[in-house]
Amino acid sequence: MQDPDRLSRKYAYQVPLLEEFKRWQVNIRFLKQPPAESDEQRLLVQIQGVIVEYEPARIMERARRGRLYWARQGHPVCGRVPYGYRYAQRERNERPTVEVDAEAAQVMRQIFGWYVTDRLSGQHIAHQLTNREIVPPRGGRSYWDPSTVKFILTNEAYVGSWYLNRFRMELRAEQRRPRVCVRQRQEWIAVTIPALIGSEVFLRAQEIRASGYHQGPWPLTHPETHLLRRLVVCGNCNRAMTSLNSTNGDHRYYWCRGADPHRIMAERSWCPHPTVSSPELDAIVWADVVSLLSDPELLLSAWQEQHQIDK
Ligand SMILES: [Zn+2]
Repeated sequence: MQDPDRLSRKYAYQVPLLEEFKRWQVNIRFLKQPPAESDEQRLLVQIQGVIVEYEPARIMERARRGRLYWARQGHPVCGRVPYGYRYAQRERNERPTVEVDAEAAQVMRQIFGWYVTDRLSGQHIAHQLTNREIVPPRGGRSYWDPSTVKFILTNEAYVGSWYLNRFRMELRAEQRRPRVCVRQRQEWIAVTIPALIGSEVFLRAQEIRASGYHQGPWPLTHPETHLLRRLVVCGNCNRAMTSLNSTNGDHRYYWCRGADPHRIMAERSWCPHPTVSSPELDAIVWADVVSLLSDPELLLSAWQEQHQIDK
């Protein structure tokens, strides 16, 4: 074997492995090292193991600090540029700068226009973009996901402040893959880039998002007519169900998002659940709520239970 770190990158595993080999009288020879026969030599192998584990973490941390330093000087040397921008061509020694990608910027403005002026929902906008065969950002996917549209609509970069150091990876004990977490706002580093839309348009989009009323792929002309709007979950696949109505408003129903052709093309998990009539489901749930509320004993016991919990 070349080096002890070929045995395992994690020092913690190296020692038990070496012990185990020794127990079965298997001799391990490291080509780049003298045979570990004396205590000193064994110590050397162990120290090397610790350093091998420590080194990549140290390099990564140093690189991260370097990127943060340059970001604070206004040079974005890390992170993917937001959709609508690209890194400018540069000479070898020049620091990177960001410029506008005219084509993508046009699409980005269209997204804000649809959202703010036409009041289309993120999902509807994603459909429009996919149908027009516009290439989604960051490759990979062949379709626009509503979450990508949402990410664009909430990105302050478009009014001139691109925030770096916004996210960090966090690995919790029970999870196999690290999770992306948003850092505290005071840790973000703002880099000034060309604004692509006016701040009034951006603020209007945030207001609309907060109010939560948009038109779906089929205009939701009377959102108040769906009693269980945003509350229904598909019994088949657990996805949230969307509230819809027919264009003339005569038919109202809930629709599983797993039946959305654009979304399932990539996920390969089409949900066969049929649409559910909104008046019928609303009537059943409402009748149940009324019967629960008209039972004084049940109300009293529920109140007492809640009271106990609050104490
Ligand atoms: Zn479903």
